[in-house]
Amino acid sequence: MDAQDKKIFIVEDERDILELIRMQLNSAGFTAKGFETALPMLNLLKIEHPDLLILDLMLPDIDGMEVCRQLKNDKATQKIPILMLTARTDLEDKIKGLEYGADDYITKPFETRELIARIKAILRRSDWESDKNVLSITENFIIDFNRYEVWVQGKRLDLTLTEFKILQLLTKRPGWVYNRSQILDYLWGNDKIVIERTIDVHIRNLREKLGNYAYLIKNIRGVGYQFLSEIEDDIEKD
Ligand code: CA
Repeated sequence: MDAQDKKIFIVEDERDILELIRMQLNSAGFTAKGFETALPMLNLLKIEHPDLLILDLMLPDIDGMEVCRQLKNDKATQKIPILMLTARTDLEDKIKGLEYGADDYITKPFETRELIARIKAILRRSDWESDKNVLSITENFIIDFNRYEVWVQGKRLDLTLTEFKILQLLTKRPGWVYNRSQILDYLWGNDKIVIERTIDVHIRNLREKLGNYAYLIKNIRGVGYQFLSEIEDDIEKD
């Protein structure tokens, strides 16, 4: 995470605090833009997105909580991480903020050190999530193509390279049916000496490891295999 190319918007109606945060972020290497009210920031969001938004809860024009709710409900803006600034020490408000989708909150007065640390933690997390080589099938089923890792409900699966590659192929085009010979081509190219039924064995093992998500790999009788494009509600079971 490089602060140099990160842009941060701050909405805070107390001018002194706004100016202080803006200066501190700038000296930490971020590009920070300040707003004393929410509306001008919301207007700017139509043409420009920050990497992170620092949002005060008590604002003169629109309540910070409402701004947060709006942004997180809009597909265009829901990925922008939000750090809530609050003078309220009321736990209820903090919980409500997090429920509305804020990524973190910090209570005023705060130390610069802490603010910067929180910002960096959020940005690292969102960098990781936005990495194109990480596929989140659901919140609890994640494939990291860089690290060759598959995570299901917080646990890393112990897949063989062949199982991983089958999963990689099938998830490339959800809904698409691959026949066994296409899967073999992908796995071994021209070197294939294995028989097509071998694929069935690998897929059976893969499905077993996927547990609750096994249903996503479907056998199309007489044709081959498909990764379902329609995913049921995320599984909460242990
Ligand atoms: Ca305020």
